[in-house]
Amino acid sequence: GAASTASMAKHDLNRLNAGLMTLLQSLTPTTEELAVQDASLQKVTSLLKEAWPGANVELFGSVANGLSVRGTNDLDICMQLPESSDAKESKVEAALRVAETVWEAGMEDVKDLPGARIPVVKFGLPGTALRVDVTIDNDLACANTRYLAAYAAIDPRFRQLVTIVKHWAKRRKVNEPYTGTLSSYCYALMCVHLLQTRSPPILPALQLLPHTHTGSIQGWDVGHYDKVETLQDFGNANTQTLAELVWDFFEYWAWGHDYRSTVISVRTAGTLTKTEKGWAQRVGRERHLVCIEDPFELSHDLGRTVDRQTSGVLRKEFLRAATLLRDSPNPLHQLFERF
Ligand code: ATP
Ligand code: MG
Repeated sequence: GAASTASMAKHDLNRLNAGLMTLLQSLTPTTEELAVQDASLQKVTSLLKEAWPGANVELFGSVANGLSVRGTNDLDICMQLPESSDAKESKVEAALRVAETVWEAGMEDVKDLPGARIPVVKFGLPGTALRVDVTIDNDLACANTRYLAAYAAIDPRFRQLVTIVKHWAKRRKVNEPYTGTLSSYCYALMCVHLLQTRSPPILPALQLLPHTHTGSIQGWDVGHYDKVETLQDFGNANTQTLAELVWDFFEYWAWGHDYRSTVISVRTAGTLTKTEKGWAQRVGRERHLVCIEDPFELSHDLGRTVDRQTSGVLRKEFLRAATLLRDSPNPLHQLFERF
């Protein structure tokens, strides 16, 4: 049966909230960390612009949208190749040349994955703990980064919830898309969905409002409302605390979500059916066991990394967290215990 924060003693809930707020502070990036990230971005930008005059170099990912956790040490940089009159250099060729360029400039542990869905070059910055990922023409990721930044600017509880959920997911080892669990981006969208579906809602569906930002990338409509300064009061009618929202998050994924037939859709602030999406059965290697629709690239199921075994692992972890929150008077320590 479903738990409810109504069943938790008020003082327990207050204590949980105070504990989460303290944890949140310890997870917020330090000013030194931000300064190193900034200097590193400048350095990589000038390296790339020297080799590709006219290229656009842009930060994306959690450092760009304010959803990063202290010590994450992962800088996501996208380079948009200049439109030249010659045949445009292919992404794969460009990735190889990025790898050469940064290696010659003394970057450490350069790895290039030109065969990935999005070609990427990974390296470390000497003298820092930072790992950098440079991707080529990754315009959709830049767009979804700005889209999440817009949600973050509407209500502070979004960033707070994402930070706690990401910390939990890293500690419990369920934030590893390459081994079959979910990406940070996916968890962020799960948090948007949760806040869109509170009553009253804490976040709107920016794509259902008039599109003040318009455009299309690789044929996908990225239009949405982005005048977030007009939405500062949007969530105010909802007074739920972080503790209540963390509770709601795990309760939903443990007991509320219909894994068999439902697709989470941030685009519509609701859910769709797997049948509507054509995701009711396995398609090739995509099993569609946990379905989260990408807000722009609508054919992309962000849960497609999940297989039978890891879907069991995820379900077990959601249940563990929800049960701890329901039954333990002081669940904080166990909730984030390293797996
Ligand atoms: P972290 O703090 O864990 O690094 P992150 O949001 O930066 O979180 P990354 O895995 O580093 O997550 O991905 C960087 C960015 O790439 C995301 O913010 C998102 O914009 C984009 N991205 C990642 N995975 C996908 C995906 N499967 N589909 C579309 N965009 C993605
Ligand atoms: Mg990142």
